Amino acid sequence: MYDVNSKCADDFIDHEEILETLAYADENKENVELIDAIIEKAKKRKGLTHREASVLLACPIEEKNQEIYKLAEQIKKDFYGNRIVMFAPLYLSNYCINGCTYCPYHAKNKHIPRKQLSQDEIRREVIALQDMGHKRLALEAGEDPVRNTMDYYLESIKTIYSIKHKNGAIRRVNINIAATTVDNYRLLKEAGIGTYILFQETYHKESYLELHPTGPKHDYNYHTEAMDRAMEGGIDDVGLGVLFGLDKYRYEFAGLLMHAEHLEAAFGVGPHTISVPRLKHADDINPEEFDNGIDDETFLKIIACIRIAVPYTGMIISTRENKSCRERALHLGISQISGGSRTSVGGYYEPEPEDESSEQFDVSDNRTLDEVVRWLMEMDYIPSFCTACYREGRTGDRFMSLCKSGQIQNCCHPNALMTLKEYLMDYASPQTKAIGDKLIDKEVLNVPNEKVRNVVLENLHLIEQDNRRDFRF
Ligand code: SAM
Repeated sequence: MYDVNSKCADDFIDHEEILETLAYADENKENVELIDAIIEKAKKRKGLTHREASVLLACPIEEKNQEIYKLAEQIKKDFYGNRIVMFAPLYLSNYCINGCTYCPYHAKNKHIPRKQLSQDEIRREVIALQDMGHKRLALEAGEDPVRNTMDYYLESIKTIYSIKHKNGAIRRVNINIAATTVDNYRLLKEAGIGTYILFQETYHKESYLELHPTGPKHDYNYHTEAMDRAMEGGIDDVGLGVLFGLDKYRYEFAGLLMHAEHLEAAFGVGPHTISVPRLKHADDINPEEFDNGIDDETFLKIIACIRIAVPYTGMIISTRENKSCRERALHLGISQISGGSRTSVGGYYEPEPEDESSEQFDVSDNRTLDEVVRWLMEMDYIPSFCTACYREGRTGDRFMSLCKSGQIQNCCHPNALMTLKEYLMDYASPQTKAIGDKLIDKEVLNVPNEKVRNVVLENLHLIEQDNRRDFRF
């Protein structure tokens, strides 16, 4: 039976509750009075329940959808301003013993080159990433308890944080690895990870079991309850996501929000981020063979509805999506994007020959980080390389209360400007630097508190004139 507080996945992602939610959404999808009331509630910026948000997602009325998009854009601005946080994935290993039918790392794939980065190779990758200007990474790996051990991850994290090349530094390491034990989550926390990310892939248990026929990932409950264990292990920033295309998107959407509600109810902290990956072509994987692909319009509506349903959460889009889709998604609620990404193991230091690719999926946005940064600034977004919250201990509910309090403009906004300035000084092309310097001059005036503004101006000067780095509020 549905129980938001239960520790059992079958209760907090109750199948019957999702079916009833979908039926309720169908019954009410053209109920203008109810839709208006839900939109009014969303305007209070306290979020929506999975039932309410599902009604909005199902609503076909164009005029109401435009209201939803407008509100999503406004909520994004209220919580995150015009900042977009930048990150890059770093693939450590594609060894995997699971049988996931949509992922080219599945154990039966005998032709994909299998690689695991050594600590020296990690060093080379990280230097290449630092030389692009990255400060925040998301570590990625397949599941192989013999090769990809917890010791390997802990050593890799230590290596990554230790590398100081020129003015570069990786200041926040997030990690996307298979579900594990409370003790291991505790070790990851102690190693200084930022967010623990784990995609649910699908919340539909029956499909999940078919899509993960073999390997430890087959255990739906162990996978779905991973965030509870992560929280018990002391990780209070966790990142949710489903892989859109595997099952029906409305089912996934309701499940995702129920998962967020569960974390908030059980631990007092909702998801730090929600990712919206879509199934892509990859090595021996053809997305056409899966029946539940969604078009761009549906995808963008999902993003807008998540944004208004969980207003405080960071929303992430990767280079699975192309430039034009990412551009539209940014307006509707995305707050973090990757740039210059490689999804192969070792691909930053040395691009792989095409016929020997270890890539996890085809990248649809192949621009360099410099091009992505410039593109964002041309649209008046501030690319942010900030990692301050987690380094100042503002994780979990402390981050949430900063986010909910509206004080972000005196904190995140200055941090974004100062880290962007570092990027411009150390890594940007002359054209990007010119646009960025102008943007900073304009945006610094938007720091509301005069004292803070003066400190920011002084720090920007020190970054430029004295080669000083790593200022933060
Ligand atoms: N092994 C970890 C796990 O069990 O969750 C980490 C996963 S993997 C490195 C990162 C994510 O890539 C997966 O969770 C999955 O959602 C996504 N992925 C796998 N195959 C994909 C494909 N063909 N297209 C797009 N994304 C894919």
